[in-house]
Amino acid sequence: MLAGLQASDPSPQVPAPPRFDDASLRRQADDVVDYTLRATLDPQQHTVRGEGTIRWRNASTRPVRELWLHLYLNAFKSERSAFLRERVGGRGSSAPSDWGWIAVRRLSLLDAQDRATDLLPSMELRRPGDEDETDARVPLPVEIAPGEAVRLAVAFDDKLPAIVERTGYRGSFHMVGQWFPKIARLEDDGTWAHFPFHHLSEFYADFGTYDVTLDVPEAFTLGATGPLVDGRVAGGRRVERHLQRDVHDFAWTAWDRWDRLRETIDGVDVTVLFPRGYGGLARRDLAAVRFALPYDSAQYGRYPYDVLTVVHPEDDASEAGGMEYPTLITSEGPWFTPAGVLSPEIVTVHELGHQWFYGLVATNEAAWPFLDEGLNQYAEVRAMARWRGAGSAAEVLGLRVSDAAIQAVASNLSVQDEPVAQAASAFSSGASYARLVYCRTAAIMETLARVYGEDAVGRALGLYARRYRFEHPGPEQLLAVFEEILGARVAATLRRALFEKGWVDYVVDGVTPSSALVRRRGTLSFPVEVELFLDDGSTLRRQWDGQGESRSFEGPGSSPVRAAVVDPDDRVFIDANLANNHGGDGGGGGAPRTLERATYLMQLALQVASP
Ligand SMILES: [Zn+2]
Repeated sequence: MLAGLQASDPSPQVPAPPRFDDASLRRQADDVVDYTLRATLDPQQHTVRGEGTIRWRNASTRPVRELWLHLYLNAFKSERSAFLRERVGGRGSSAPSDWGWIAVRRLSLLDAQDRATDLLPSMELRRPGDEDETDARVPLPVEIAPGEAVRLAVAFDDKLPAIVERTGYRGSFHMVGQWFPKIARLEDDGTWAHFPFHHLSEFYADFGTYDVTLDVPEAFTLGATGPLVDGRVAGGRRVERHLQRDVHDFAWTAWDRWDRLRETIDGVDVTVLFPRGYGGLARRDLAAVRFALPYDSAQYGRYPYDVLTVVHPEDDASEAGGMEYPTLITSEGPWFTPAGVLSPEIVTVHELGHQWFYGLVATNEAAWPFLDEGLNQYAEVRAMARWRGAGSAAEVLGLRVSDAAIQAVASNLSVQDEPVAQAASAFSSGASYARLVYCRTAAIMETLARVYGEDAVGRALGLYARRYRFEHPGPEQLLAVFEEILGARVAATLRRALFEKGWVDYVVDGVTPSSALVRRRGTLSFPVEVELFLDDGSTLRRQWDGQGESRSFEGPGSSPVRAAVVDPDDRVFIDANLANNHGGDGGGGGAPRTLERATYLMQLALQVASP
């Protein structure tokens, strides 16, 4: 999803096309869990009646005697859910005006002859002393061996909440996400990766096939994960079957006021669903997909699905906006968004990027949110810079703010507080989560790209996304790929930046007629340039590997040194303080332009990024 902060300066380097042979790209996921469901919407009561079967295979190396079921809608059941107890700012911080929940009516283990063993009486909805009901334990009467598959018969009733945190209804608009009993992922070693629905956390699941039949009143238009494979209208009802393999979630929307735009982009059938009066924005969403779908496919491996649906909710249902599901994303932005404010484009590009960083590379979003939101934020910054150049966030009244600049400034506000690489539920506030998970990760990547080349960082991310397509990698797999492409020093820097609150501040500490003293503060180091400004108006540049704590740079002797700037091209994007990057006499018309630019950029970005 999208956090509340955005910011970036486009890299001056134009990315070279990635050099990958995608003929060898993995075509299919390991099919671990299949959901065959039928869902009937009552749009007056805002309920969904669901039933069907789940086929689940123990893909781990250990036998199991229990299942864990995520019942995410219960996050909106009462003030006592983990989600609403943990309100730490950001979206979803007020209780919904109408509660939502999921009640499991049937949960049975089916044998080969379809004989059912009722699992409901032994299902444990809660832990002792905790009223959260989003993470249910289901003891099994038999052991399920590695490789063995079981079938479950399920039936459930959803009451959708008034729109809150990506799901729910407003009037007759329904955005139905996190709506069915969902089996947690069993890791290879036989441990269940299950968790309550925490306030800041998202999801994690195995790949499989979703075969879902949706039943709504005839007047309603549907949008859903996967292509429509069968549809009919009869008896006042519209029934659509959507079928998608190789995905790990399924979301849908139903509204009697959707308008629709359709276009084939890069071989993909793209649909934009939008409210009447939002046609201009829908065309902007489509334009963003027209750029970003082929761009992301080239960078991170080809988008493997036949369809993509962009849902653009009405402004007063914007809590449904800015969210990602497999083959279905939600954008946001009011119908009157000025053409120069690119927030709708940024949201669409961001959510589309999630088809890779979350969708195809299916990391544990609760345990390591930076692996999806952070890497995807950088993917967003790259795409926006490539598409829209210097004004990639806004271009208003002649001022241009890039998407990347905002990340750098926002990320420095929280870097001392807690690490980037930690569980979503460990963050102290929504603001800190946004600044570190989203902005810091993107600013670190942008720094590596500016210092070591965007091509190299692009190749690392491209390799990572391809190698772990349809897999569930962790941080170590990411770091290993960076070591492979960029070397051990860069991988160590990346580790320190992500796990150890790594920071850096380059400082010009003194300028004399004969030399300039430059310092490096902090725990990270990058090679930098130092530019000396001489009395005779000339300048010269020196290199520093940036590894020691300080270094003195001698002038040429022919003319006194008047001023100095460290990192004159702003390559170290996460520099904690740009105001001390220069020293000496900056007046008299000789003030380094880079400094003025940096300070200006900083002020501008702060205005954008501040709450
Ligand atoms: Zn996101």
